[in-house]
Amino acid sequence: MKRKQAQWVLIAILAIAGALPASAQSHALPSGDVQAIYQRLLEKIKSIKIFDHHAHPGYGDDSDVDAQATPPQHLPFRERETNPELVAAVKALFDYPYSDMSEEHMHWLQERSSAAEKAGGTAYWDHILDLCGIESGVANRVAMASYLNPKRFRWVFFADSFLFPFDNKTVIAENPDEGVYIPLQEKVLHRYMQQASLGGLPKSFDEYLAFISRILEENQKKGAIAEKFEAGYFRSLYFADPPRQAAVAVYQKYHSGGVPTPEEYKIFQDYVFRYLVTEGGRLHLPVHIHTAVGEGDYFSLRKGDVLNLENIVKDPRYLNTTFVLIHGGYPYFREVIWLASMKNVYLDSSEMETLVYPSEMKNVLKFWLETYPEKITFGTDAYPYSAALGSEETYWLGVYSARDALAAALAEMVASNEVTEDKALEIAHGYLHDNAVSLYPPFPR
Ligand SMILES: [Zn+2]
Repeated sequence: MKRKQAQWVLIAILAIAGALPASAQSHALPSGDVQAIYQRLLEKIKSIKIFDHHAHPGYGDDSDVDAQATPPQHLPFRERETNPELVAAVKALFDYPYSDMSEEHMHWLQERSSAAEKAGGTAYWDHILDLCGIESGVANRVAMASYLNPKRFRWVFFADSFLFPFDNKTVIAENPDEGVYIPLQEKVLHRYMQQASLGGLPKSFDEYLAFISRILEENQKKGAIAEKFEAGYFRSLYFADPPRQAAVAVYQKYHSGGVPTPEEYKIFQDYVFRYLVTEGGRLHLPVHIHTAVGEGDYFSLRKGDVLNLENIVKDPRYLNTTFVLIHGGYPYFREVIWLASMKNVYLDSSEMETLVYPSEMKNVLKFWLETYPEKITFGTDAYPYSAALGSEETYWLGVYSARDALAAALAEMVASNEVTEDKALEIAHGYLHDNAVSLYPPFPR
């Protein structure tokens, strides 16, 4: 054997024995045992204490779980009560004695949650978090509930109602969904006005902005850590940059009555939205924005498209404001990740966990974590959708699906030689806990 040949034989033997240092080069096809890597990662991921960055915890009859309600709609396949995964969820959470979700059996669930609600105290929801491996999380609610432990739930309040102070006839008439949503926005604004002891809208635009700031500051003092927008449900997420005088003129014209044209209303809302974003920077109150497809058959994908927000999140005037793009712009997840290049922009994966199956969520997470892993945060969007899919079951299904999708995405990344297993676990900790927690002050003692 010639010397060169002998060298190659040696290299081949060492490579087969796994003694050679792994090449630093990534490759398109996963090599190694992806299943085994997935299993190893999943076991470790299950022990990571979770921070849930987006949820609406609450009992089914508590209307404060959202500033809106669900209009009649055609649910996607996985969210229907026929989904057998929901049986697994209720069995994991409760000692549910049945193996289906028939209407009769769902009474059992409802009675169980009504009994907990009647008993009062915070033990029920603490226990649900414990069973799901959630250390703490946010509660998107109109107001906090006494049954949520303030040491584990942090309040995120809604800010859209400030955009709808005038006669909303024209908005309500747009489609049946707005007929459900807008009257509830009016109610929230009315609550804020009561909070500020206002009998009607202030006389001047300056006073209106002062009223907004007062509510933001008061809510923050009450423990709120972020302001939330669901604007994509009610209008386009494209906010132009009108001059202040134009917004003043609309306010003066309509604050005591009359129906603004859509163009006039938009000028006013665009200005006020930017004011709320600026205040979010001043107060260190991150701005959460719903950016995915939403509930209701009339939700407009075009108006709700997250790319409409590009001029806002890439505006250097708002560098002090932290933006969290809630639900990660789904289905535009390939586009949205590029907005996270901004140091103040984060994504949240909530809603996806129940909207799609883990096989699809794996692809989303893999693409995101390969691009800006430190900007991706976890949320469940736990919400009392129905008797079968309450906040409790959404928590469970969200955590289950995200862990599974995360382990699979990271396993493929390891097997393609993109990251080591240690690095993969560091990314997992960031996604499930650290990245979101770093955005807020610590829990008050
Ligand atoms: Zn939500």
